[in-house]
Amino acid sequence: MDQTCVIGADVGGTFVRIGCVAMDGELIHAAIYKSAAISTGPPKTAIDDLAAFIKQYISELRITDYRGVAIGFPGTLDKSREILYSASNLGENATSRFDGLRIPAGLAAHFDAPVFIGKDTDLLLYSDVHQLGLRTDGMVTGIYFGTGIGASMIYRGETVFGSDGVAGEIGHLPISETGNKCTCNGRGCCESVASGWRLVQLRDEHFPGTPIDDIFTLHHQTVPIKRYIHDCARIVALTGNLLNSEYTVVGGGIVAMKDFPKDAFLAEILALLRHPYPRDTFRLLYSPAGQDAGVLGAAQLIFHKLGERSEIYSIPVKREKGV
Ligand SMILES: [Zn+2]
Repeated sequence: MDQTCVIGADVGGTFVRIGCVAMDGELIHAAIYKSAAISTGPPKTAIDDLAAFIKQYISELRITDYRGVAIGFPGTLDKSREILYSASNLGENATSRFDGLRIPAGLAAHFDAPVFIGKDTDLLLYSDVHQLGLRTDGMVTGIYFGTGIGASMIYRGETVFGSDGVAGEIGHLPISETGNKCTCNGRGCCESVASGWRLVQLRDEHFPGTPIDDIFTLHHQTVPIKRYIHDCARIVALTGNLLNSEYTVVGGGIVAMKDFPKDAFLAEILALLRHPYPRDTFRLLYSPAGQDAGVLGAAQLIFHKLGERSEIYSIPVKREKGV
């Protein structure tokens, strides 16, 4: 394949997606593999194995002209995005073979183009910003309700990393009075009341026998599910009040589920936002992310780093009052 492109990979706990994206941001090709293809083995060979995996893809597609490689990881990274601190669901016993490694530096010798890594939710928001044509000269927030709750913020064109690189851990803001135990071993985190794993707990407690995919269809009028939607809305509203973002993008598997009560969710958010501002200018957008969003977002990270596609971050969007 002679077409100039970039290579993006999206490493998840179960699957890794890899693809090539044209310089205009359009997906050319993507493939999916079990994450075990790269996540098993000793730390010593982790980077070489990851390089071999990506090089095999480049060779199979016969890609001759690629301008960058970027990989998204589900974990915590340092603020310069050179070290993966930890990726607890990418291995066993909450550790992965990549933990603590300088991945871009290690991969650099294997490729004829620059290599970058990013946090999965940062790349998801890059993809959403591109797909939705959002301006990023102000603040844009992405909140993703999946198995856990992930988030990312862009301010003045740059992702907000925080002093250690771990800003945006909205899932672990302590907000609940119930004090449910969280996956982080804390109590009362946002995830403990409003995540995918909490929804499964609620199903098991209150609606055993209901397939999880039908839970909103069958039970959206019940007290536990209304409370759950209220708690999801609280998380969006508290970030809205805190950050006063120009756009708040909401995505993830939970809000994409059948009959997720979007009207009730929005009504709860608006009721909880401070008024008149930021309520009156609050803009909620749903993530258009499909299964290739991580790959597309990785490509956007490369374009951003290369500075070749900086204009995508300044597409003017008509401002409308309210949502
Ligand atoms: Zn937590």
